[in-house]
Amino acid sequence: MSKFLALIPAAGSGSRMGNDVPKQYLPLSGKPMIYHAINTLCGNPLIADVLIVLAPHDSEWDKYDWSEFSGKLRVFKCGGDTRAASVLNGLTAAQHALGISPEDWILVHDAARPCLSRSQLDKLIDELADDAVGGLLAVPVADTLKRSNQENRVACTEPREHLWQAQTPQMFRYGLLAQALQNAANTQITDDASAVEAIGLRPKLVASDSYNFKVTYPNDLALAELILQQRNSQ
Ligand code: C5P
Repeated sequence: MSKFLALIPAAGSGSRMGNDVPKQYLPLSGKPMIYHAINTLCGNPLIADVLIVLAPHDSEWDKYDWSEFSGKLRVFKCGGDTRAASVLNGLTAAQHALGISPEDWILVHDAARPCLSRSQLDKLIDELADDAVGGLLAVPVADTLKRSNQENRVACTEPREHLWQAQTPQMFRYGLLAQALQNAANTQITDDASAVEAIGLRPKLVASDSYNFKVTYPNDLALAELILQQRNSQ
């Protein structure tokens, strides 16, 4: 039986938030931001282990008590210069520590998407567990898309038909994902699916919603806070 493992790359600096503390540790609903993704992933009964990839010199993680997740959490301080390098380093370290099989599923989820819901996670696993390639949560683009020139004037309007915004988790088998990320080393990919696409495969898009957005700019924190508060009061 293939296992399901989650991996959270959390070695970024979050410079667009304009804060000294890396964004995955910014306070959100009384916890560091990364807590919320860990809570959702650890709460899924199918997920056996949740791998956290920190920067080698991370000094924040140990300031918090993670003991409620101790049955599933595995922490590796081996983040790289890019998100893709952090994911690949984490997979390699976890393979040595835990013995992952090539057929095991890996769900890579950004620390900066704290509002992933249990039902979105269930849907992703349900739709992909028998898929030959794997795939990702994503949202069909709703806005009209403009491409700009150097002066920030509209160069053209892009047709939005068949365009999706990629989210995470992105779910691929360990063997395929590790090979794809190795092949993509030194390229500018910003998600795991791009690496899989680059070896000629077609990841499946699983329809999600905008609640699972990525906290990137300071205003995003207030929105995430509202979503989590509303969910916790239900
Ligand atoms: O910066 P961005 O929002 O795209 O980062 C997405 C995720 O990748 C975050 O969880 C961040 O911590 C992680 N990351 C990483 N190693 C890097 C850069 C980003 O683990 N070198």
